[in-house]
Amino acid sequence: MEKEMSPPLHIRIFIALVMAVIAGLLIREPAVVRFYDFVGSLFLNALKMLIIPLIVSSIISGIMGLPTTASIKGLSIRTVAYYFITTLSATVVGLMAVNLVKPGIVNGVPAQEILGLHADGAALQNDLSSRGISDMVEIFHRMVPPNIVEAAAQNQLLGVIFFALLFGGSAIGLPQHHRQRLFSLVEAVFQTMMRMTGLVLHFAPIGVFGLVAKVVAETGLAAFMPLLTFFFTVLGALALHIFLVLPFLLLLNGINPVNHFRNMFPALLTAFSTASSSATLPVTMDCLRKRAGVSNQVSSFVVPMGATLNMDGTALYECVAVMFIAQACSVDLSWTQQFFLVLVALLTSIGVAGVPSASLVAIVIILNALGLPDEAVGPILAVDRLLDMCRTSVNIFSDSCCAAIVDRSRGIELTRYE
Ligand code: ASP
Repeated sequence: MEKEMSPPLHIRIFIALVMAVIAGLLIREPAVVRFYDFVGSLFLNALKMLIIPLIVSSIISGIMGLPTTASIKGLSIRTVAYYFITTLSATVVGLMAVNLVKPGIVNGVPAQEILGLHADGAALQNDLSSRGISDMVEIFHRMVPPNIVEAAAQNQLLGVIFFALLFGGSAIGLPQHHRQRLFSLVEAVFQTMMRMTGLVLHFAPIGVFGLVAKVVAETGLAAFMPLLTFFFTVLGALALHIFLVLPFLLLLNGINPVNHFRNMFPALLTAFSTASSSATLPVTMDCLRKRAGVSNQVSSFVVPMGATLNMDGTALYECVAVMFIAQACSVDLSWTQQFFLVLVALLTSIGVAGVPSASLVAIVIILNALGLPDEAVGPILAVDRLLDMCRTSVNIFSDSCCAAIVDRSRGIELTRYE
């Protein structure tokens, strides 16, 4: 009862944000700033604690949930190919936008100080540029870690994700009774991790308060200028993807994008207001079946799978956020390094759960992998909710396009398209 009375999380985060700005401006004594820092880093630690079990269980249960009958196997391949193409194009759109706008640079100066980030840009740059192409090859090498426990302990996510993909893929071939048992176990672990994520996010207002108050205490209100540019860069890139790239794919497959938007409108609104692909799932299925006329067979496996595996908006967001922090820390990522970023964003977006703010976890992973300061998640959190609502709508819309395209490719008439 008490829970229902309290305002929703994003409102509480917003209130915390306003309080953090006020506190940061008024109380700047070193001891208090240390307290802000303590609270903020506690929240960051809690987020990091979730990473491995959340990602592993999400991937394995996603893969094991795939249907195995021969006719659907063909569909699965087409679906996964679609996921890959759209997520890849989303990351490219994001990269183009962030390279063009450069939100991390304010009046020609990297925004590191304004954002209160503590990183030695020159040392980072040196470290990164001393990594040649062989180090990029090394990244692929690390995808197959000799010791999976060690890889997990060192947060080498690529290896862990690759292992989870292989594990899930191999488990599909198990005899029915074993597969069923393993699937229920992994699914239960995944659901538990989602609850834990919810619990941690419950404390997000306190975390945001600590992280933002610290930045404001150290740098004043200037931090909001680059954040605003970052906000509009993400928004513009998401708009480009949902209004140009995805409709183009629909057109290529003979589907009228305007009608498709109209059919999916309730799902888009739900995604926007909940910021959760998983919570929107029933509405997406309903719109696809009843309004877009997509067959049950296609929608019932494309959409649940897409809700965790296919996240165009999330991958785009990860790329822009990481580039933003890199720019702010005067770290110039070469094209090869940006290619690496795309690859990691692609892979981590697969592991991101369909719940609000889930991509923060992935952003922490990538920042750590590149040696960039992960405290940067703090300022980003300040503008995260609105962007989350938008990227979740993009995630959902991409899933629905995939279902319509795959359905059409099976020669099924989409009856509702006049
Ligand atoms: N909220 C997103 C979703 O549910 C995930 C994220 O990007 O945080 O699709």
